[in-house]
Amino acid sequence: MAKQSLKKQTQAVHGGGVRSQFGETSEAIFLTQGFVYDSPEQAEERFIESKENEFIYSRYGNPTVRMFENRMALVEGLEDAFATASGMAGVNGALCSVLSAGDKVVSSRALFGSCLFILENVLPRFGVNVEFVDGTDNSQWESKVTPDTKAVFIETVSNPTLEVIDLNFVSKLAARNDAILIADNALASPQFLQAGINGADIVVYSATKHIDGQGRSLGGIVIGSNDYIRGPFEAYLKHTGGAISPFNAWIMLKGLETLELRTNRQADSALRICQELEGHENLSNVIYPHLPNHPQYAVAKGLMTKGGTVFAIDFDGNKDASFKFMNNLEIVRISNNFGDAKSLVTHPATTTHQRLSEEQRASLGITDGLVRVSVGLENPDDLLEELVSAIKSI
Ligand SMILES: *Cc1c(COP(=O)(O)O)cnc(C)c1O
Repeated sequence: MAKQSLKKQTQAVHGGGVRSQFGETSEAIFLTQGFVYDSPEQAEERFIESKENEFIYSRYGNPTVRMFENRMALVEGLEDAFATASGMAGVNGALCSVLSAGDKVVSSRALFGSCLFILENVLPRFGVNVEFVDGTDNSQWESKVTPDTKAVFIETVSNPTLEVIDLNFVSKLAARNDAILIADNALASPQFLQAGINGADIVVYSATKHIDGQGRSLGGIVIGSNDYIRGPFEAYLKHTGGAISPFNAWIMLKGLETLELRTNRQADSALRICQELEGHENLSNVIYPHLPNHPQYAVAKGLMTKGGTVFAIDFDGNKDASFKFMNNLEIVRISNNFGDAKSLVTHPATTTHQRLSEEQRASLGITDGLVRVSVGLENPDDLLEELVSAIKSI
């Protein structure tokens, strides 16, 4: 197993790897539900306390899944991790494993639709009091996060308007008030924003996005202290059934090996495309965290090593123009995912954020002319040529 002191890229290739007696080069897929015991005494002991590399049942843990968990903990720089069936199983587990009736949660408002559903519709049914703030306004955080706050929930970089939370400010505020900070870091990716090192207590990823990186499998991962992960989180997840398939965990392990190469290339292309598109007469806005016109540019520069793989453009609130643009694309396909090797484009107002009221969308900056673009691994010249020509011909 790789040493803790090694750098992130080395961890992404070797971290957490365990070889079987065959000495295989690539990580093995242990596609098994259960594990046999040498004796009833051994089974009894394992049910009392499973040690490292001892497993009971794949809903509780599995060797391939454990390799992915250990690798992610090393990449993120936190103590331990637990893999889940999807990003949402991770978000739900992170919240439900720490909250009880009567607790107060403060959350940023600009959230992925399913995260918003859990906070707005699920948690209140169980007596959890959820308050929302404009995540980019530190004074709102300051007034809502109080000593009776149990948890704070954020998306470090929000989807689709790419708001960047001042993580250092919010994490210090949460710590001062003894609140647990849960950060969904999916959009930023583990490559560009180290949420754990920057103060989040619990970091959640939809591994479906950049960690797989090639649009194949669903998966999620929750990373935090050893006490939390092997304590309340494991207890909640292993009994509620959100286990990842060992096959999907293996895909994520292999995805991590190329995470740095892929995301750096995608982010370089995204920045170049944004710089070219900025100021185009048919666009009212180009949103990308590392463009100087971004409202949280200074925060984004301080937190993120690159601006990420996703940007958004606004056709001045005009739905027809954004649909024409999307219909003019050939390489860039219409799909509501991101972080894929294939470039993808989404119209959030009519798809991912359709469920919200017009007012809610307006308050989040999701206009009818907003289009989100996830930049893939195609040659950036091809992407740029297609995007510019599609914008011109609306
Ligand atoms: C996609 C996404 C999720 C959900 O992940 P799944 O793997 O689809 O369940 C959660 N949060 C954010 C920010 C996402 O982008």
